[in-house]
Amino acid sequence: MWKIDERDCMHPVNAVVVGAGIAGLCCAWELKRAGLRVTVLERSESVGGRIRSERFYGHDIEVGAQFPSSGYRYILPLMRDTGTIARLVKSSPWGAVERNHTLHAVHARRPWTMLTGGLLGIGEYGKLALGSLAPLWQGRRLNPSEYATLAALDDADAAQWCATTMGAAARDYVFEPMIHGFYFQRLSGTSRALVAALLAFNGADALAVTGGWQALPIAMAAQLDVRSGATVDAIEEMPEGVRVRVGDEWLVADRVILACPANVSRELLPCASEAEQAVLAVKYASSIHVAFALRSNWKPPAYLRGIHGALAAPCEGADIAALTFESGRLPGSDGGEVLSVMLGNDAARRAMNRPDDELLRDIVEQLDRTFPDLHAAIVETRVRRWPTAEPRSPVGRARAVAAYRRSLVGRRRVVLAGDYLGSPWTDGAAETGRWAAHHIVRSASADRSAP
Ligand SMILES: Cc1cc2nc3c(=O)[nH]c(=O)nc-3n(C[C@H](O)[C@H](O)[C@H](O)COP(=O)(O)OP(=O)(O)OC[C@H]3O[C@@H](n4cnc5c(N)ncnc54)[C@H](O)[C@@H]3O)c2cc1C
Repeated sequence: MWKIDERDCMHPVNAVVVGAGIAGLCCAWELKRAGLRVTVLERSESVGGRIRSERFYGHDIEVGAQFPSSGYRYILPLMRDTGTIARLVKSSPWGAVERNHTLHAVHARRPWTMLTGGLLGIGEYGKLALGSLAPLWQGRRLNPSEYATLAALDDADAAQWCATTMGAAARDYVFEPMIHGFYFQRLSGTSRALVAALLAFNGADALAVTGGWQALPIAMAAQLDVRSGATVDAIEEMPEGVRVRVGDEWLVADRVILACPANVSRELLPCASEAEQAVLAVKYASSIHVAFALRSNWKPPAYLRGIHGALAAPCEGADIAALTFESGRLPGSDGGEVLSVMLGNDAARRAMNRPDDELLRDIVEQLDRTFPDLHAAIVETRVRRWPTAEPRSPVGRARAVAAYRRSLVGRRRVVLAGDYLGSPWTDGAAETGRWAAHHIVRSASADRSAP
């Protein structure tokens, strides 16, 4: 356990960031660049939070965040700054989506493959193509990872909006599989702002990081003052600064950035303002990631060879939200195949406390329906549970985030960051950290120039 040096308490740091996920690290990175003295306190022994890579069966698999996107605006510059960009490779552009309990291959940049691959009928595809013209045109001007800027589109339920604008088939077999597969939540109950953000990534490539995506947070942490194994239990705001408690020790900072999930920040900030309470009230979708190492002679059916992953259609009752094939995620990787399975929120909640063997039996039973010989090819398994996998995005969240940002014009010493304050993916989380840092730098210089 890290002990706070008494000298630190006598010479207060400028800023303390709580949480070394990508939001906290990005915030600390920007603060350091602006010349502030910053310390990051991280509960776990490793950095990265939900960006987590593990060695499994000769592969570096992702058990948390799976794919960076070529459309990311904050993660890619950080990879450039840390020299990790050279590890980026393009995943296979082919994926698959389920309909009638069958997977249909789809190419990320050739939308007509939804028609030629049998996912949509001609009338259904026509309705999607026509209906998506206006949202796609609008999306060209959006920054999908800055969720606050999507507040103007945060006015309708996504399921209804998709059905009305692009048809029921597009709702059930295009948008719902994406929202469920990427964010583990159902389309109904989600804001159309999130679908608009997704559409703004149109044409972007799914990427992978050789050696594991966690290389990015590790490289960032190496250039920052990060203290791992340091759980922040309490913070106390005082006129002259903020006291931060880690076990029996206290640290004093001018500014504190809470970059941990909302349930933790809620506990640490009992006297939250109305705008803070509104963003902290967010609920999370859960997921469970299961990795299956498969014998090297196992191959998926020919029409699915080389795909990077597949999305299930929740309207067909699947527990599985998404699959990732290591051979398509990181083309050229040697050794046997690793198949990763991620459960959707409802299934993950039901299974959160079930023993691994029961959970694995059920998942293999479901996989066998699509890949009949799969059970016999499994040589190793690994299960990772994520109770707070992704923040939900009901109608109103983008507006609450925008209101929170507007509310911080004063000299508030505690600032919130994390994916629940932005778009629910790594690039959105990084944007919130960057925003928090810029807010602090601006308010610190206002402090200095105040009479
Ligand atoms: C299974 C899965 C798949 C995903 N797939 C993708 C994907 O393909 N692409 C993508 O871009 N995103 C994906 N995501 C989402 C992405 O991982 C998250 O949006 C992002 O990593 C969140 O970053 P964060 O910094 O906001 O939070 P976190 O990564 O959760 O970081 C918060 C940190 O705070 C620390 N902490 C908590 N409490 C305390 C405390 N009291 N004191 C000190 N430290 C504390 C935690 O240990 C953690 O390190 C996926 C997520 C999951 C779970």
